Amino acid sequence: MTPFDCSVHTHADLCDGRDTPEAMAAAAFAAGVRHYGVSCHSHTPLPSDEGYVLPADMTAYRAAVLRLREAYAGRMEVLLGLEWDSRSDVSPAGFDYWIGSVHYLPGENGVCYAADLDPESLSACRDEGCGGDGLRMAERYFREVCRVAERKPPILGHIDLITKLNAGNRFFDESAPRYRRAALEALHAADPHATVLEINTGGMARGYRDAPYPALFLLREWRSMGGRVILTSDSHSASTIVYGYDQAAALARAAGFDRCVLLTARGFDECPL
Ligand SMILES: [Zn+2]
Ligand SMILES: [Zn+2]
Repeated sequence: MTPFDCSVHTHADLCDGRDTPEAMAAAAFAAGVRHYGVSCHSHTPLPSDEGYVLPADMTAYRAAVLRLREAYAGRMEVLLGLEWDSRSDVSPAGFDYWIGSVHYLPGENGVCYAADLDPESLSACRDEGCGGDGLRMAERYFREVCRVAERKPPILGHIDLITKLNAGNRFFDESAPRYRRAALEALHAADPHATVLEINTGGMARGYRDAPYPALFLLREWRSMGGRVILTSDSHSASTIVYGYDQAAALARAAGFDRCVLLTARGFDECPL
């Protein structure tokens, strides 16, 4: 068993991915993945999400993934997952697993801003929704993460996604005590016995970052809490199913982990790093 056996944070063209579920599954199998999970974005009522998330009625989505399960039976496990957004208006119940993620934060003006879309949206969020204070914006983001963590998702998604567009501390200083306090509060809201934290390379595959989420100080704290980690690629195309897993494993080891978990049809299995 190696971390490369498992890839369960993946998207497809049923939400905002580039490739069909069939193409993604074929690429996963060819890459040696044996526990493959599809985790398309759950529906939100935000008009800007239309076409980038699943419809509220997920019947077709379930059927598409279950067809793949049949097609790969005995060769690769296909798990039916959901990346559940904090703004979602559907329940994550009834899936093999779900990933709890925050992609939006509410401004103080009542407008909801995307945390990871583009620098323009994030600037607007800071200036119009957070009084021009980038740290306040980060604090509001992590308050949303607390809410998701408290729901005890099996996997907590990209806990510090708010750093995606923050290269060079463009919007806020990631070493500021206020930033660290807010991020740690979100982490402490997670139950290490109920939730696995993901080390997510999605921002790397798409050229936004040179390291996976989350930051090392968060991983170290998670380890001291007795938490477990899973490597994920947040893949949106067939070419990135296990992208950056070596760096993700190195980051986990740097934080003191000597094992991660794989998600299988029987649940989480431990695997050496
Ligand atoms: Zn996400
Ligand atoms: Zn994702």
